[in-house]
Amino acid sequence: MEWNAPPLANDSLESRIQAIPKTETHLHIEGALPYELLHELDSDRFPEKPFFRASGYRYPNFVEFETLLIDHAVAWYTGPERYHQACKRIFAGLAEQNVSYIEASLHLPMIEFIGADGHELIHAIKSAAPEGLEVKVIGGLTRDSYSEVMGPVIEELHKWDDLDGIDLHGQEWLELEAWAPTLWHRCGEAGKILKAHAGEFGGPESVTEVLDKLEVTRIQHGVRAIEDQDLVNRLRDQGVVLDMCPISNEKLQVVSSLEVHPIRSLHDLGVICTINTDDPLCFSNTLSDEYLALSQRLDFSSDELAEIAKNGFRHARMDEALKRKRMAEIDSLLTI
Ligand SMILES: [Zn+2]
Repeated sequence: MEWNAPPLANDSLESRIQAIPKTETHLHIEGALPYELLHELDSDRFPEKPFFRASGYRYPNFVEFETLLIDHAVAWYTGPERYHQACKRIFAGLAEQNVSYIEASLHLPMIEFIGADGHELIHAIKSAAPEGLEVKVIGGLTRDSYSEVMGPVIEELHKWDDLDGIDLHGQEWLELEAWAPTLWHRCGEAGKILKAHAGEFGGPESVTEVLDKLEVTRIQHGVRAIEDQDLVNRLRDQGVVLDMCPISNEKLQVVSSLEVHPIRSLHDLGVICTINTDDPLCFSNTLSDEYLALSQRLDFSSDELAEIAKNGFRHARMDEALKRKRMAEIDSLLTI
């Protein structure tokens, strides 16, 4: 099948990708900070074109990436008002790309770093959504997040009605402490979306660990699942969703180049994949760039890109009628 050119648009691949209704389900609020806000804040410290946003830049390792991300994020995110301001720009940028459903990850240790109230942060994020864009807030914790300040927060998270889900962030090689399975289980019982980062720097065993111990239904990345055929079969059979971020993986050298990214094989083997941007502050990528990369560098056909986009809606926590409408809109862009 080929793309049906949308009305009033020219024929370019970019315009056809622009027209696809999309979801974004692996996005860190802190890592999505529009860089221009930092530049406007302090142009000496944050030059217009920092080295790490150059197209050829590769991060030497995860810890350097994480340090850079935190240093930049804390310069802006000092309280709820700054979250609201940033999210207004982030969400407007995604809405312009025809995104209508977002699962945005809020790094919960920020509650401790900046002394903010978690509910106020969630309200600041959700109230920044423009009409027609549904935003779910996912609370992210690292494997070593249980501190004196965060412990009492963690114990109550399953009762937070404004929180839509939880995610495991950070360094995958740290040990999973006993509080985590308890929290994920409680949040599962409370009907929240259960996610975890795994299979990015950790091997396939890190994916198996979060499936077994945290009972997650969505894996953030999951790239290295490809190294274990039994695990790939399990992901396919259980209908686990991999929220993948190919450009992030190339820039962090999880893959040597995008041309060999496992999303090609995982999709072909029947594993449910979506594509997302992860931390556009650090990678200078847009969601449309991810679709373009799949088309140009991994040979995804029009109907394969449509399937990836439909996966986003099919597994979203949104109104069923609206889901069907969005998927029908995607189909209408294709012609036999
Ligand atoms: Zn991530």
